[in-house]
Amino acid sequence: MFDAPKSPYLVPFDGSFSISDASTSGVSDGHRHRGKHRKLARNKLQQLQRVLAAGDRHAVLLVFQAMDAAGKDSTIRAVMQGIDPSGCQVYSFKRPSNLELDHDFLWRTSFRLPQRGRIGIFNRSHYEEVLVVRVHPQILASQKLPGELKLETIWDDRLKSIRDQEEHLARNGTVIIKFWLNVSKDEQKRRLLARLDDPKKLWKFEPGDIVERRHWDAYMTAYEDALNATSRPWAPWYAIPADDKDYMRARVAEIITNSLESIGLSYPQPSEEDLVEFAASRAELESETD
Ligand code: ATP
Ligand code: MG
Repeated sequence: MFDAPKSPYLVPFDGSFSISDASTSGVSDGHRHRGKHRKLARNKLQQLQRVLAAGDRHAVLLVFQAMDAAGKDSTIRAVMQGIDPSGCQVYSFKRPSNLELDHDFLWRTSFRLPQRGRIGIFNRSHYEEVLVVRVHPQILASQKLPGELKLETIWDDRLKSIRDQEEHLARNGTVIIKFWLNVSKDEQKRRLLARLDDPKKLWKFEPGDIVERRHWDAYMTAYEDALNATSRPWAPWYAIPADDKDYMRARVAEIITNSLESIGLSYPQPSEEDLVEFAASRAELESETD
């Protein structure tokens, strides 16, 4: 089973992660070689993706969660640049549809999971069910849950469901890597103001983001609980400092390539029968006269 590579941003598996100790700014790695490093990381990821597809044994699921304006979209864009689009899929989860509300809360993410050989990206995910819904428990009223709602236990129950499903997926070959882009409240304010100031960014501004910002502390509590309950060696969370976008993207790319390298992907080996057939194919091609 996948075993998370070490990183200073890996959320420990023993429940000891504390958001107040998590850095939003990171340690600067200097600007000089950034372009070169980014290109190298991209080439590495491209090669890994090719072996992943050829091997057709593992699937890769990348989960991105964050407060608004932390840079989910641009990180996904940057990390996936240059990757073969036919081996990769991105899905953004918005408010659930009526059909989705007619199913259990893991249904809509389950059937969008990547198949073997592919990289699937979740922009928001099943974790919204223990984040936005926990911060606004009135959302539960639309979820058609049977019986009496038990707010004391529902979040732990959901976290257990998520943990169990992720362990099941990992046992069956899915490499799950989860990123929480940790932007500071100050930086979020700057970015939201920048959206208001720039006509090219204005379309991204949503008054609703300001409403969620009012619940910052409740979100942080929900994130801390969710990350502690579900960061495991086979489905790790990484809490990535997000105030410097270049730094964040570099760390995310690095963790993805390190993870894929650690599972020892390899091109499939031909069997004895394959080799005999290949030799016959070669002989036929070489003996063609016209
Ligand atoms: P952008 O960066 O473009 O703003 P976004 O991911 O914020 O992207 P939006 O359409 O603005 O996309 O917002 C999606 C909203 O749907 C978020 O507020 C999110 O919390 C909410 N959402 C996602 N999943 C659920 C869920 N399961 N239940 C309730 N709300 C959800
Ligand atoms: Mg939004």
